[in-house]
Amino acid sequence: MNKTIVITGAGGVLGGTLARALAKEGYKIAVIDLKKEAADNIANEINSSGGNAIGVEANVLEKESLESAKRIINNSLGSCDILINGAGGNHPLGTTSNPYFQESDLANSTSGFKTFFDLDPAGIKFVFDLNFIGTLLPTQIFAKDMIGKKGCSIINISSMNAFTPLTKIPAYSGAKAAVSNFTQWLAVHFSKVGIRVNALAPGFFLTDQNRTLLTNSDGSLTQRGNQIIEQTPMGKFGEPDDLIGTTLWLCSEGSNFVTGIVVPIDGGFSAYSGV
Ligand code: NAD
Repeated sequence: MNKTIVITGAGGVLGGTLARALAKEGYKIAVIDLKKEAADNIANEINSSGGNAIGVEANVLEKESLESAKRIINNSLGSCDILINGAGGNHPLGTTSNPYFQESDLANSTSGFKTFFDLDPAGIKFVFDLNFIGTLLPTQIFAKDMIGKKGCSIINISSMNAFTPLTKIPAYSGAKAAVSNFTQWLAVHFSKVGIRVNALAPGFFLTDQNRTLLTNSDGSLTQRGNQIIEQTPMGKFGEPDDLIGTTLWLCSEGSNFVTGIVVPIDGGFSAYSGV
């Protein structure tokens, strides 16, 4: 195996898990993250278990930063064969306090309580930029390496919210819907040059990003955590390792005729009507 995989946001929980798993399969891994230390930690871990990785600091929202990362990666690992756009996330400023609007909310509105009318455009923009622009820009930079090569592909990270929006998080839901839509658009656009484009749609994974939303300090489930488990036929949260099999498949020749799909990895959440 002489392929190089670039993973953005790979200093985080899910990207880091994919980086370790793909390195074990023999891929060379460029671990990109805004946080240099987080990227280096994952790369060091991979290298000390016999893999080949480098940690690179870059901001997925800045073209120059990505271009400079690309130069470093090309010099030490060669050109990019596979790009995994893993950087993404939500922001409290794009989130309402309650799932449903009540007339009394307006009168009761105190500082910190957010109705739909209080949503901050800056918060919405942050979330749209991070998830959508943060997928588009790295693709513009790294997909150039894939032109004229064989066996190249791009994997984006969408979410359950993209199929049906979750309450309280309109910005994140809309931004991930844009990621799914872009995955299909790009799959068609790149179909004549042999670059496949697919996405993972993880269900609910207990990570630092959502731990306080889904669990109380004693480890018991919050009301929202309970709702999610009840809506998940398999009756549990996913483990980061649950993303590995689908990712290996989408990176490999086994999925040579697969492009433009968004794969739910969700314990049946998206298939279940609730009844
Ligand atoms: P995480 O917060 O652990 O990791 C995200 C990483 O992205 C962090 O290391 C962070 O430093 C990095 N990052 C943030 N902004 C960046 C920027 N501008 N440039 C470069 N790097 C940046 O999150 P995670 O749970 O591992 O999520 C990874 C992806 O999976 C995200 O797109 C997230 O939206 C998506 N996702 C997560 C879940 C879940 O349950 N955790 C579910 C569905 C989708």
